[in-house]
Amino acid sequence: MSTFQAPKGTYDLLPPNSATYLAVREAISGPLKNSGYGYIETPGFENVELFARGVGESTDIVTKEMYAFETKGGDRLALRPEGTASVLRAALEANLHKGGNLPVKLWYSGSYYRYERPQKGRYRHFSQVGAEAIGTEDPALDAELIILADQAYRSLGLRNFRILLNSLGDKECRPVYRAALQDFLRGLDLDDDTRRRVDINPLRVLDDKRESVQRQLTGAPMLRDYLCEACKAYHEQVRELLTAAGVAFEDDEKLVRGLDYYTRTTFEFVHDGLGSQSAVGGGGRYDGLSEMIGGPALPSVGWALGVDRTVLALEAEGIALDIPAATAVYAVPLGEEARRVLFGTVTALRRAGVATDFAYGGKGLKNAMKSANRSGARLALVAGERDLAEGLVQLKDLESGEQTPVALDAVVDEVTRRLG
Ligand code: ATP
Ligand code: MG
Repeated sequence: MSTFQAPKGTYDLLPPNSATYLAVREAISGPLKNSGYGYIETPGFENVELFARGVGESTDIVTKEMYAFETKGGDRLALRPEGTASVLRAALEANLHKGGNLPVKLWYSGSYYRYERPQKGRYRHFSQVGAEAIGTEDPALDAELIILADQAYRSLGLRNFRILLNSLGDKECRPVYRAALQDFLRGLDLDDDTRRRVDINPLRVLDDKRESVQRQLTGAPMLRDYLCEACKAYHEQVRELLTAAGVAFEDDEKLVRGLDYYTRTTFEFVHDGLGSQSAVGGGGRYDGLSEMIGGPALPSVGWALGVDRTVLALEAEGIALDIPAATAVYAVPLGEEARRVLFGTVTALRRAGVATDFAYGGKGLKNAMKSANRSGARLALVAGERDLAEGLVQLKDLESGEQTPVALDAVVDEVTRRLG
């Protein structure tokens, strides 16, 4: 072991398990790529002010969890704690919304950073795949995103997850509700921090995870009873579209989520095998965010799914993804001349698209065959001086143990035929 270890709250993805992470990212992004979403990549850090405004001054993310720093040049930056603010910033900066082709549909995949108390399913560096549909107000778009996330989880074989759904209202009805909620909350026995939150963002108090707070919230006014007609109708359409698609959901009137920018549709995917870190993903509509970061009004909706927790959910359900062996053919040269010739064959196989590996470092036959078996390859190519003198190599089926001589110049054809 070296003197260095991965920083607290982080972990390394190593083979073979890392293949599961790649497969999860593929499974989540697959339905998006298939539905008109284009890939976007933004920097790992942004101007800190983007998150302060775009995520919200009163959120845990901004007040406690952000890795913010000043550069040698005096810029105030922060490692990105989430994806939406950056994606919207990039879309606005590139005028993607002005192409006359709304919504702008984007998907992303990457690393995010939050200074949290590390525990199972909660890390300081984690990975998300996300999607944003920018510039259109249409309940079908909200439904589309929820349906695509559901499809992604199902394609992985996950079953024990639930979709929680709520509406947070809009700029018409939310302020009325907000005032009513503040009245109610001011009558409770709350600590100073929470009292401050009541002033700045009272809805967040509903999201408080502490039992002592949750107990006092019985009887709190519910947003559902304050939704304006437009919000009610919008929400009803989202619900109908999900039902028509056969996607089951639960109405959860306390679901407000941690970020300030959500309006109307808000949802969370929770998995029942994960203990307290149960949210595998979440999202919602954020009609006001663009204006909050200095852009035009652009009603939008999006989600982010946590890759780390999705992998934990797979483990919780005992699902092992069917990941094909990385190597199909393993080449074992016996002697110097065989090394030279067989290395050429390996290159030819790879160029023909066959996943091939080679026994490097002049291993003996026994060790090399061990590596061949460990690689998961179906076939081994073994060549010694005598075979080569006759223009042959031995093709060994590693499952049956059967070995057949094949002419060197026919190896690529024979191997591709055998692998189907
Ligand atoms: P939580 O309530 O668990 O803190 P959150 O509301 O902060 O979650 P979001 O900001 O909505 O989470 O991020 C979307 C998804 O990213 C989460 O559902 C989760 O799967 C994942 N995620 C968020 N924070 C972490 C973290 N610190 N470690 C691992 N995954 C995370
Ligand atoms: Mg959080």
